Amino acid sequence: MKILLNNTSLFKSLRPFNDLGFVPTMGGIHKGHLSLINKSNKLCEKTIVSIFVNPKQFNNKKDLKTYPRNIKNDLKILKKSKKVDFVYLPKFNDIYNDKKKSKIKLLKKDKILCAKFRKGHFEGVLDVMNKLTKIVNPGKIFMGEKDFQQLYLVKKLLEKKYKTKVIPCKTIRDRNKVALSSRNFLLNKISLAIAANIHKKLTNIKKNINNKKNISDFLRLQKKRIKNNYKIKIDYLELRNKKNLKLSNTINNSRLFIAYYLNNVRLIDNL
Ligand code: AMP
Repeated sequence: MKILLNNTSLFKSLRPFNDLGFVPTMGGIHKGHLSLINKSNKLCEKTIVSIFVNPKQFNNKKDLKTYPRNIKNDLKILKKSKKVDFVYLPKFNDIYNDKKKSKIKLLKKDKILCAKFRKGHFEGVLDVMNKLTKIVNPGKIFMGEKDFQQLYLVKKLLEKKYKTKVIPCKTIRDRNKVALSSRNFLLNKISLAIAANIHKKLTNIKKNINNKKNISDFLRLQKKRIKNNYKIKIDYLELRNKKNLKLSNTINNSRLFIAYYLNNVRLIDNL
């Protein structure tokens, strides 16, 4: 596993390969990331993982400051997996070297879910993914369905601009069905237990949703109940079509999306 600390070293090392699988991450490596890496390892000649906490996608300074970082441990896990050929650890200037302001804007119809509650977040994500794709030039990028809206927006942008394919990967969960996330490292046992209960509740809601006459009223009521039960803040609880992310009135081809806070940590999930 070769560690690439700057773009010069990256360009030199990657030149011989034209079937690269790329797994972009912000570190805090867990089994969710490893499942993306495994898929890349199976489908591509070489696998490159990047670790870069992109300051431009954080709409909240405290969130950026407290985001879990443990590069030593991350490298240990990646090495042990034996599935990673290159780890790219860029500095800010490796990514943002052109000084030009990004022109990436979201369409009005895409300003939903997390885009509505985290102003500027996806503009930052799309900008960094655009830059990383230009630098790494991979055949395939592997991304998790856990961040469904991110996957949807990145796929739409990159597949229009580049030959690169964006490959969706299933959400990996812990034994209580909580979606794995680097942010879970910031949660205590009690919060993790609440997250498990919320997952259970969402599974039930999804099971019962088709019997309801008015799905948005039903979800509004469920949102209020969860909020009051656990005394938590919920940004959204919505059923949306998984192809175009439009609000949906049927469970067919749809997913239930939630974003909520536990102990000031913002968690998202969809099922
Ligand atoms: P992050 O480091 O959180 O930016 O995530 C890097 C990549 O891993 C993104 O494509 C995420 O969607 C994906 N990912 C994060 N958590 C999971 C999970 N529990 N299951 C599958 N993929 C995940």
